[in-house]
Amino acid sequence: MRILRPGALIAVLLMLAAGLAVPLGCGDGEETDSAGKLGVVVSIAPQAEFVEKVGGENVDVTVMVPSGASPHAYEVTPGQMKALAEAEMYAKVGSGVDFEVVWMDRLEAANDDMLVVDCSEGVQLIPMAGEDEPEEADHQGAMDPHIWLSPPNAKSMVENIYAGLLQVDPENKAYYESNRDAYLRELTELDQDIKDGLAGVTNRRFMVYHPAFGYFAEEYDLTMLPIEEEGKEPTAAGIAHLIDEAKEHNIKVIFVSPQFNPQSAKVIAGEIGGSVVSIDPLARDYVENLRIVLGELVQAME
Ligand SMILES: [Zn+2]
Repeated sequence: MRILRPGALIAVLLMLAAGLAVPLGCGDGEETDSAGKLGVVVSIAPQAEFVEKVGGENVDVTVMVPSGASPHAYEVTPGQMKALAEAEMYAKVGSGVDFEVVWMDRLEAANDDMLVVDCSEGVQLIPMAGEDEPEEADHQGAMDPHIWLSPPNAKSMVENIYAGLLQVDPENKAYYESNRDAYLRELTELDQDIKDGLAGVTNRRFMVYHPAFGYFAEEYDLTMLPIEEEGKEPTAAGIAHLIDEAKEHNIKVIFVSPQFNPQSAKVIAGEIGGSVVSIDPLARDYVENLRIVLGELVQAME
């Protein structure tokens, strides 16, 4: 059970005395962390759905990297540090997303009592698409961090989150278990619908600016052609090569995302007489979003 700290209690009393509305349980959770909810911090927005689906009414989730921002470059705000200091659990992606590589040590140091769950436990990492074999074992870009974009991986992440919630709140095991099972069924359905949706697609290549869909491609037997070269805009020669590749494989859609929407994608689309379409690797409503992604891919590849 959580209780208000003396400082917070005094603040509440002062506000009451002043006749101000006390912001209890209003959902933005900055000041109150109300009603004994478990504070859970996640790195990226899709994890918020995972935690909320399992934790239900018992959790209050804070997302570190907002949906519109890139986890490859993001600065933590003071408000987030405060939520972190009060959190019971941190669910990290654990697959080497840049945000965590840069921040995780500091975030863990800010709260000794916080359980850190590694969502990537049990997930098989694959190399980043479009990168040559790493010359050194510690080459940072060697493995693809975007594990969450394959529903089977999402299931593993959900299992890890469930195990974490059990550890911080064992009394509610039955509740978390039934929530988890219901959400795993949703993910199984999603997985099947993606397989069915892609079953008739013969040209299984798609071109995307930021290569976030490597696990998705691997899972569903698609080929992702990334525009970005090792996290950077391609060179003029690179763009020329991509235009040839797109023409050769009859690609008509260039995918971008809300986090990355660069000129090179428009240039390539213009040269092949195609269009630029946005798909989001970081939407908070994970299941719904992957259905939208599926629809766009099927339309682009048919
Ligand atoms: Zn990314």
